[in-house]
Amino acid sequence: MIKWLVGLIAGAGLVVAGGFLWPQNLMMPVRGGDANDWNHKTFWYEPWGKSGVHKGIDIFARQGTPLLAATSGIVLYVNTTGRGGNSFGILGPKWRVHYYAHLKTVTAKAGQLVRRGQQLGSVGNTGNAKNRPPHLHYAIISLFPHRDLKDDSTQGWKKQYYLDPGKMLLEVLRKK
Ligand SMILES: [Zn+2]
Repeated sequence: MIKWLVGLIAGAGLVVAGGFLWPQNLMMPVRGGDANDWNHKTFWYEPWGKSGVHKGIDIFARQGTPLLAATSGIVLYVNTTGRGGNSFGILGPKWRVHYYAHLKTVTAKAGQLVRRGQQLGSVGNTGNAKNRPPHLHYAIISLFPHRDLKDDSTQGWKKQYYLDPGKMLLEVLRKK
């Protein structure tokens, strides 16, 4: 019994460690998108509707522009209602969930394994983006807290979980 439990805990530990070792290798999730397609000051901008602060970035593109998986991973869920409209979440490297919202179309299916760059839908303005120009709301949520990132801003403790996708994308685009 004890051996079995130790084995289970060790196994779980290996899975967690493996997730952290898996390199993120992020890419721009909107086909043809570049650093000019989102406002670099809108992460954590306030006031921001019912969310209070903006916990992601909005990458603007023409209606129907292909939406690509920014990382490999597994599709956790697909939603068609609510503020995000057509949206879904992918659990990717480092135990981070990548959230894509306001999509025109979604082809991703819950439980599907996806690879980086795979097309999973298209950019739109569904949900509470209805009267705004089409854009991808993109957020990266860490399941493990980054305590060093929390600060005194509005909802600043949530910065442990909501990472800035714009900062990461800029690093990737600069290396191009
Ligand atoms: Zn947004």
